[in-house]
Amino acid sequence: MILLDQWYTEKAEKQFHHAFERCWPKFEKQGTPRPDIQIRKMKSRWGSLSAKGRLTLNTDLVRAPKECIDYVVTHELCHLKHHNHSPAFYELLEKSMPDWKKRKHKLELALI
Ligand SMILES: [Zn+2]
Repeated sequence: MILLDQWYTEKAEKQFHHAFERCWPKFEKQGTPRPDIQIRKMKSRWGSLSAKGRLTLNTDLVRAPKECIDYVVTHELCHLKHHNHSPAFYELLEKSMPDWKKRKHKLELALI
């Protein structure tokens, strides 16, 4: 079981790193500092962004399709600028990833 967990975490680290590199260029121009990525199991959310700008991703997200991982990363990166779910947050999300709703829906279906 420990070996399996380790394999799973390593796979997640690699996948999430790639997802971050795919999503980050759009946010780099904003001038917000590049966040550190942390991976851990979380019970009720796929990702979070701390006030200090640390991006945490749920290990279980590795089971989701890549486009859905990118959605979670993009959502969290929008929190670098807007630390809430205000209309301005959704405006930025929409601009950064116009098809985010489709991806969110797919994620919900993939990981029930
Ligand atoms: Zn959020």
